[in-house]
Amino acid sequence: MREAPNIGCTNDAGAAAGNSVGRMTGSAASPGERDEGKASSAADLVASVVRPEIRALSAYAVAKADGMVKLDAMENPYALPGPVRARLDAALARVAVNRYPDGGADAAKAALRRALGISDRQAVLLGNGSDELIQIITSALARPGAVMLAPEPSFVMYAMNALYAGMRFVGVPLSTDFSLDLRAMRSAIEREKPSLVFIAYPNNPTGNLFAARDVEAVLHASPGLVVVDEAYYAFAEASFLPRLAEHPNLLVLRTVSKVGLAGIRLGYAVAAPEWIAQLNKVRAPYNVNALTQAGAVEVFADTAWIAEQASAIRAERARLEAALGRLPGATVFPTQTNFVLVRVADAKVVFDGLKARRILVKNVHGWHPLLANCLRITVGTPEENDLLLAACAELCR
Ligand code: PMP
Repeated sequence: MREAPNIGCTNDAGAAAGNSVGRMTGSAASPGERDEGKASSAADLVASVVRPEIRALSAYAVAKADGMVKLDAMENPYALPGPVRARLDAALARVAVNRYPDGGADAAKAALRRALGISDRQAVLLGNGSDELIQIITSALARPGAVMLAPEPSFVMYAMNALYAGMRFVGVPLSTDFSLDLRAMRSAIEREKPSLVFIAYPNNPTGNLFAARDVEAVLHASPGLVVVDEAYYAFAEASFLPRLAEHPNLLVLRTVSKVGLAGIRLGYAVAAPEWIAQLNKVRAPYNVNALTQAGAVEVFADTAWIAEQASAIRAERARLEAALGRLPGATVFPTQTNFVLVRVADAKVVFDGLKARRILVKNVHGWHPLLANCLRITVGTPEENDLLLAACAELCR
């Protein structure tokens, strides 16, 4: 999962996006100024037409994990239960792949509505992962001069999408305990009047769930849309989904990626129909493919297995938290996700040592000052977690 683009100019995505948008005065000649008759290289052409802030980026590099214990991307470590897999396979076998998918994804949306009990007063939009929905929302709201605001550190794709869409990104640092700094949020909202606010609930990469009353305060203070991104809802004790009717400026965003279906790329947004109607105009006509739509119908027909696997993951999370917390010099931060953020004496040493033992986690040191020497470790199967803990015990003596 692309939660940490390898940003060319800096690893701090928020700062990168916030600083570079608006400075689009590249030194290269404009296309019309090139010498007549002189063949231009592709590099010259790129320099003349691609925005400097895009040229300054590096494409996101997904770490190679073949044969490794993969604890870096917040995937569910369990396969689908046999009967669910069989239903999925049968449904996929029936898909007419020679035809375009249903552009409105009606059957998938209906199954989702039933599974979540979404009221008729709310509308739903599906995306190719919630990543795509973040992109759709951002491009719909990116008027010239518009601001996107989010706490930092948080999911880096918010700031990246602001950069892609030419929106100014304003990052508001979290408090040192990773709670929302409400005073700073309120004054930034007052000052910047953001069209769009993103709150990851729970937050990635810190793992904590912000106080609901703080999120409500942000909803009340914000003049535009507030996206509450519940990518980790299955592992958390709270949700804003039942609160949609109270807040006309609330959109709840979710994904199936963390609950065992990262490969099918499916995210969903739920909000008042007025918002969804606008977002619907921005998406590609067939943004959710036919196999994913058919899969979604099966998956949402019975979600009990999702809750069961999530509860097994939560139990393992508690074991990891306790064991990591006993390591000399380690600080474990509270989490309501399927990962644990832990501060160690030297994140690079532990990260490299784990990698040498074929265990892949995420070193988030350098992403933000609040994350100094922090590793983000996805909860794996009990066996994977045993391997991780044994390796950490050797590395954190
Ligand atoms: N939001 C948050 C907070 C995330 O952590 C992630 C994945 N890392 C996403 C959205 C994107 O998820 P996906 O595109 O897989 O649905």
